[in-house]
Amino acid sequence: SFYRTLHMTTINKEKPVLVTGATGYVAGWLVKKLLDEGYTVHATVRNPNDTEKLKYLTAIAEKSAGKLIYFKADLLVAESFDEAMKDCELVFHTASPFISKVKDPQRDLVDPALIGTRNVLSSVEKTPSVKRVVLTSSSAAIIGDAIDCESYTNGIATEANWNTTSSVNHQAYNYSKVVAEKAAWEINKKQTRWDLVTINPSLVIGPGLNPFATSESFNIVKQIGDGSMRFGIPEFYLGFVDVRDVAEAHIKAGFTPSASGRYIISAENTNLLALTQALNKKFGKAFPLPTRYLPKSIVWIFAPLVGFKRKMITNNIGHVWKVDNTKSVQQLDMHYSPIDASIVEMFQQLVDNGVIK
Ligand code: NAP
Repeated sequence: SFYRTLHMTTINKEKPVLVTGATGYVAGWLVKKLLDEGYTVHATVRNPNDTEKLKYLTAIAEKSAGKLIYFKADLLVAESFDEAMKDCELVFHTASPFISKVKDPQRDLVDPALIGTRNVLSSVEKTPSVKRVVLTSSSAAIIGDAIDCESYTNGIATEANWNTTSSVNHQAYNYSKVVAEKAAWEINKKQTRWDLVTINPSLVIGPGLNPFATSESFNIVKQIGDGSMRFGIPEFYLGFVDVRDVAEAHIKAGFTPSASGRYIISAENTNLLALTQALNKKFGKAFPLPTRYLPKSIVWIFAPLVGFKRKMITNNIGHVWKVDNTKSVQQLDMHYSPIDASIVEMFQQLVDNGVIK
């Protein structure tokens, strides 16, 4: 469209690109792809002196055409991203905690997401070379609970929808993502030098590069295999996408001059039981995989014992969760890989690493 051609942003490929939270599950594949394409990557980590934790990334860099430089930065420390951002035209802000069981949701989820996004964007404001910021948001910034989809057109969420139902006390992770993304758009709208593109993935699956990754993605898949769900799986509907596709979407969002706005990145809308069927063929004999749904009433009764609030169960189990990925296919030319293969590969990795026994 005319509006989109007015906002063309071309990134100089000779300049370094910044990736925040380089140790993350999603960021690992993004850093690898950038390095393989020959970019100089400025990678922020909390502790660049932890060579043991970083050795898998360092090894990836050594085998690649690009160059990896570590910088120390913390989401909660103002100005800590300044140095890493120097000379960069493109900033990928991926760092944000993705964990479910937290003691203090404000401190452990909302603060790092929101204050972190503000801190990164304050550095952008001070760094005249920056032309584009790609923010790793989430479909959690679009849908709070699955029941929200019932109020969206045809029951399917698009980039026009916003999560309005989460709070610090209910679906705190989703809340952390929506407040951080909203803050980013507000800051972006006050100026015209840099544009903002957001990546809004559904649940990311597939093998990780980081053997220490703490992403909640691993916990969810672990619970499918470790016997926690042997008597049945809650009827959770969700979208899924392979981690390598999410990394590719970041690169396309960064380097496609006309990319603009939010992009839902999701291969398929399905549910946990259907996803588990893909594992049954290969792993069903050796592992206590779930083969049926747990009745909602049972889940509702036992929810508090396993750390879930009943409101979460009421508003999610049995409610169809759906997102529309059309914009990503049309504007970023995304070709999604089948999620059945991704889940099998991820499960195999967890078995190989002794996480699922
Ligand atoms: P992850 O592996 O846990 O990565 C989180 C990253 O954030 C890590 O690099 C972590 O660094 C960093 N981080 C956390 N707190 C920090 C702090 N105070 N200062 C600096 N860095 C900090 O999780 P992930 O799944 O890859 O998530 C990456 C991004 O994708 C997040 O924005 C998440 O919301 C988004 N996302 C994930 C999914 C999914 O299904 N996985 C779906 C949609 C969106 P350390 O290594 O030092 O802890």
